[in-house]
Amino acid sequence: MRTLSGIPASSGRASGRVVRVADAPGEPPVGPAPLDPAAEAARIAPAVAVVAARLEARAATVTGDARDVLEATVAMVTDPALLDYARDLVTGGGRPAARAVYEAAGAFADLLTGMGGYMAERARDIHDVRDRIVAELLGLPAPGVADLDAPCVLVAADLAPADTAGLRPGIALALVTEQGGPTSHTAILARSLGIPAVVGCAGATSIAEGAAVVVDGATGVVQEVTEVVEQENGAVVAAEWDGVGRTSDGHGVPLLANVGEAKGAVTAAGLRAQGVGLFRTELAFLSAAEEPSVARQHEVYAGVLAAFAGLPVTARTLDAGADKPLPFLTLDGEPNPALGVRGLRVARVPGPGSDVLDRQLATLAAAAAETGAELKVMAPMVATAEEARWFVARCREHGIRSAGVMIEVPAAVLTAHEVLAEVDFASVGTNDLAQYLFAADRQSGPVAALNDPWQPALLRLLRLLGEASAATGTPVGVCGEAAADPALAPVLVGLGMATLSMGAGALAAVGASLAGASLEDCRERAEAACAAADPAAARQAVAELAVKQAG
Ligand code: PEP
Ligand code: MG
Repeated sequence: MRTLSGIPASSGRASGRVVRVADAPGEPPVGPAPLDPAAEAARIAPAVAVVAARLEARAATVTGDARDVLEATVAMVTDPALLDYARDLVTGGGRPAARAVYEAAGAFADLLTGMGGYMAERARDIHDVRDRIVAELLGLPAPGVADLDAPCVLVAADLAPADTAGLRPGIALALVTEQGGPTSHTAILARSLGIPAVVGCAGATSIAEGAAVVVDGATGVVQEVTEVVEQENGAVVAAEWDGVGRTSDGHGVPLLANVGEAKGAVTAAGLRAQGVGLFRTELAFLSAAEEPSVARQHEVYAGVLAAFAGLPVTARTLDAGADKPLPFLTLDGEPNPALGVRGLRVARVPGPGSDVLDRQLATLAAAAAETGAELKVMAPMVATAEEARWFVARCREHGIRSAGVMIEVPAAVLTAHEVLAEVDFASVGTNDLAQYLFAADRQSGPVAALNDPWQPALLRLLRLLGEASAATGTPVGVCGEAAADPALAPVLVGLGMATLSMGAGALAAVGASLAGASLEDCRERAEAACAAADPAAARQAVAELAVKQAG
């Protein structure tokens, strides 16, 4: 196990698994010269506009230093001098657009580097802007940090300001960069967000994705370790989670994994998931133009089920539509796909969906019988008790003994007693439930704050579900991203949630968090969070209560 050392940039100690940040697109070739230089030059401004709009959207979701940095980056992107110079390089210099942007930004960055000190640090910002525009012109994915859904330590050659500005403490546990200095934006923002950070850490990018590390932002030491360790009262102690989800007084809460294919399932099993709470079956088929053959489906399903022989695996039937269109199921030209024929609805309108559902259920049942996993099947986007009854009947026809629904539509919460009476279990998709509760697109940056899982309105809906679960005896779990937040997990349990399912990287942290609270503690935290006026107040109330309960 190696110990690396860098510049302490933001104090605090944290431990987690490494997520590597996507690389920049690299240097575009000098040629071939464009056939129509004017048309080629005209591509630059729209690409700049797209990048600027993305950064603006991200800026709108944050405040303070983070917003200032993003707004400064937008100003750099839209600098008319940069744009003019790049266009001249196309029309006068015969460069392809991407190359022209690369060279124009390079000249600006060189100027800043020549000035030294603080200005030289800003050269990194120009490079970030350049990489984003170049990626857009080349049709490549935007470089930088993808949406993070589980706590992790971010490791990068360097982090751009636009990357650090969108980070959330609790998810980004610590930052480690190979480059950067103490006044780099990574350092400034890490400090303002209270995230431990080490910059200028030679060898950081040789740490493998998924490796467990301890980062000490006060001393600049980054240690590779065999297991993630938990921070407690400023000292690092061994992780408490023993692989069985339960509160400190023994109330069992199985901790399950969200997976999409066999490889992820094997990783999740290795991280001691007690089963799969959400197998997103559609993910394997997002690029399939036609319904995958039964043989192909069998291969995908059996791959996941085999990793959990003897344990529960909850497969969700194809959740086609909106953010996850499946060409063979999704209707063309719907004006508002998020509110259209999606999820279970594709099986209930005229068209191929009903047969596709039957083939999927039959294939899942056959794969489960072979692998020995305990198959549970649930339907996405269920709004009424009648839909739940219909789906359960379809499952029974295929011999599936445990059939349930996802709770993602507020109507299903308000009729929870009736819905739960129809099913063997339910699982809350907090991502969509929040989106429909707040009328806030889950993919839209400017409304992201409404989709915060600590929103008291969302937590109060979960409380209604917990009450209906207790009254009907039907277990309700959570499989949306809310379940991956270690501070929120005891709240969810206190609200009456029976299982928590999450990206496997979050299991140990959530398990350790639950092990530190009794069921009564969880209930008190749930009440405090529900009573709060907004997400910040809910977080604070729960954090204060946790300290009090620990004392
Ligand atoms: C959810 O909506 O919370 C959920 C778990 O499903 P998905 O994110 O796949 O829509
Ligand atoms: Mg969903």
